[in-house]
Amino acid sequence: MLNFDVVIVGGGGAGIRAALEASKEPGLNVVVLSKTFPTRSHTGAAQGGINAALAYKDPTDSVEKHFLDTVKGSDFLGDQDAIEFFVSNMPECIWELDSFGVPFSRDEKGRIAQRPFGGASSPRTCYSADKTGHVILHTLYEQCLKQGVKFLNEWFLLELVVEKEEFQGLVAMNIRNGEIHAICARAVVIATGGFGRMYWNRTTNAFNMTGDGTAAAFEAGIPVKDPEFVQFHPTGLASTGILMSEACRGEGGYLLNKDGERFMARYAPEKMELGPRDLVSRAIETEIKEGRGIGQGINAYVLLDLRHLGEKKILERLPQIRELAMDFENLDPIKDPIPIRPSCHYMMGGIHITDFRTSSTPVQGVHAAGECACVSIHGANRLGGNSMADIIVFGKHAGLGVAESAMNRAPGDPAKLEKRAQYWQEHFETMRRKTTGKKVVTIRDTMAETLWYNVGIFRTEKEMVHALEVINQLLEDYQDCYIGDSSQRYNMAFINYIEIGNLLKLAKAVTMGAIARKESRGSHAREDYPERDDRNFLKHTLITKTGSQYKLDYLPVTITKYQPEERRY
Ligand SMILES: Cc1cc2nc3c(=O)[nH]c(=O)nc-3n(C[C@H](O)[C@H](O)[C@H](O)COP(=O)(O)OP(=O)(O)OC[C@H]3O[C@@H](n4cnc5c(N)ncnc54)[C@H](O)[C@@H]3O)c2cc1C
Repeated sequence: MLNFDVVIVGGGGAGIRAALEASKEPGLNVVVLSKTFPTRSHTGAAQGGINAALAYKDPTDSVEKHFLDTVKGSDFLGDQDAIEFFVSNMPECIWELDSFGVPFSRDEKGRIAQRPFGGASSPRTCYSADKTGHVILHTLYEQCLKQGVKFLNEWFLLELVVEKEEFQGLVAMNIRNGEIHAICARAVVIATGGFGRMYWNRTTNAFNMTGDGTAAAFEAGIPVKDPEFVQFHPTGLASTGILMSEACRGEGGYLLNKDGERFMARYAPEKMELGPRDLVSRAIETEIKEGRGIGQGINAYVLLDLRHLGEKKILERLPQIRELAMDFENLDPIKDPIPIRPSCHYMMGGIHITDFRTSSTPVQGVHAAGECACVSIHGANRLGGNSMADIIVFGKHAGLGVAESAMNRAPGDPAKLEKRAQYWQEHFETMRRKTTGKKVVTIRDTMAETLWYNVGIFRTEKEMVHALEVINQLLEDYQDCYIGDSSQRYNMAFINYIEIGNLLKLAKAVTMGAIARKESRGSHAREDYPERDDRNFLKHTLITKTGSQYKLDYLPVTITKYQPEERRY
C-alpha cells in the first residue's frame, strides 16, 4: 500500500498551489495525483487574466471596490466574510506569482498590466497577453519541481474513503498499467476542477472536466453547495463552444446582432459589452429568441466584432483568440466578425467548504480548493478573472490547512482501504469482461442534450422536472452500461465510464437545486419566477447524497457589509 501524509488530487492551478504550500512544512510527505499531466490541466486554458486591486491602471481602484464588485456580481449570494478575505489576499498573491517568475504583461511604467473585465468597476485584471493560465500553471509547476514535490501523473481518483466523517485515504488507478491502489494518507486536498462537460457539446471546458473529485466527495457524504448555479459564458464559438475570452470585450470588442446593432445598449446601457456574464448571456439568447440572431435553432448565433481594434492590438493582446478563430471557424478576426453563442463555462457550486481560511469540508482531513469547491465567493454568478484568483488564494490556504490537518491526524485504516481497493479491482474486471448493455456515449449525449434544453440559460419548472425524470432514468441505465474495451493498460473507456457516472450524479444535484430555487438570481434565470426573492431564497443550497438518496437543505448566506439591493449595470 502507498503511504503519504498529504495527497493533493489534481495538478491544476489550485492543486499545485496547495502542494507548493503544504510541502514547505518540513517532514511532510506530499504527493500530487493527477489524471492528466499537470501542465495539461484546464487552468492552462485560462486566457483573459486574474483579478487583484493593484490600482496600477486605475489609481482609484481598491480592495473595497473589488469586494463590492464581487458581492454585487454574486447577486448577493456570496459569503461576504469569505469575499473580504479573498480580495484582501489577492494583491499579495499576485506579487508572489510575480516573484515566482510568472511573465505578466507590463504597462508603460514596467508595472503589471491590468485590463477591464465584465462586472468590474475598474480595470483590475492582470494578464499575460491571452495566455495567463498557461504561464501561471507552468511557473507553479516549475516551483513544485524545484521544491521536490512528488507527482503521480496519469493516476485517477476512484474513491475517497471516509469512515464516520473521518478521512482514511483513497483508491486510485494508475491509468498507464491499470493497477488499482489503496493510498493511505492523513489528509487530502481535492482540486479536480469543474464539471462543465455535463453540457458536453456546448461547453468551453476540456474533455477532462467531469467533476470526479466533487462526485467522490459527494459519494463520501460531503454536501455539494449551490450546484444550480451554472455559468454560461457569452462568447463561445458558435460551432464548438470554444471560448473567446472575456478579454475580447475587455479590449473593446462589440457584440452585434443580425442588423449590425450593438444590442447590449438595450440590456446594460452603462456597461454595454462589459456587463457581467449572466446578463450578457441572457441578452444574446434573447436576441436569438426574438429573431435578431443569425441562423436557426441550435445553430443560431450573434457576432463578436474585433475588427475596429486593429491588427496591431489583436496581434499583441489577443493572439490566441485569433488562432482559435482561424482554426475552428476558418476566419480571421482582423477582417471578419466571429460567430458566437453562450457556452457552459464554470460551476459556481461545488464541494461545501466550512472554513475558508483552511479550505476545510465537514469531513475531518478533507480539504478542497479551486473550481471543484464552493467557498462561496462567487455566489450566483462569478466575475471574469475571479476564478484564477480563487485558485491561487484558496489553493494556498488549502495547502496551509492540509499541512496542519496532516500534523494532527493519524493515517487511515489500511484494512478498510484494501477492502475498497479490492472492490474497485473486481469492478474493473467485470466492466472489462462485459460485452452487452447500454452504451456510455448514449447516456452521455442524452444527459448533455437534456441539460442544455431544460436546465440551460432560461429555466422553467416543467422543463426541469422533465430533465430530472430523464436523469433518474439515465442513472438506472448507467447500472447496465458496458464499455466495450477489455484492455488492462490505458483503458480510457473505463475512465470515461467513471467520468460519465460522476457527471450524472452531479447533474441530478444541479437539477434538484434548480427546481427547488423558485426565483431568478445570477446565472439561475427562471422564466416562471423572474424576480429575485431575498425573503425566501437568500440562502445556499446544500445537497447531500446517502446511498441513492439525495437530500436538499439550505444554509444562511453571510452578510457583513453590503445589504442586498437591485443589481444594475
Ligand atoms: C477556456 C477557459 C478560459 C478561462 N479563462 C479564465 C480567465 O481568464 N480568468 C479566470 O479567472 N478564470 C478563467 N477560467 C476559469 C478557470 O480557468 C478555472 O476555473 C480554473 O483554472 C480551475 O482550476 P482548478 O485548479 O480548480 O482545476 P483544473 O485546472 O481544471 O485542474 C483540475 C486537475 O484535476 C485533475 N483531475 C480531475 N479529475 C481527476 C481524477 N479523477 N483523478 C486525478 N486527477 C483528477 C486534472 O487532471 C487536473 O490536473 C477559464 C475557464 C475556461 C474553461
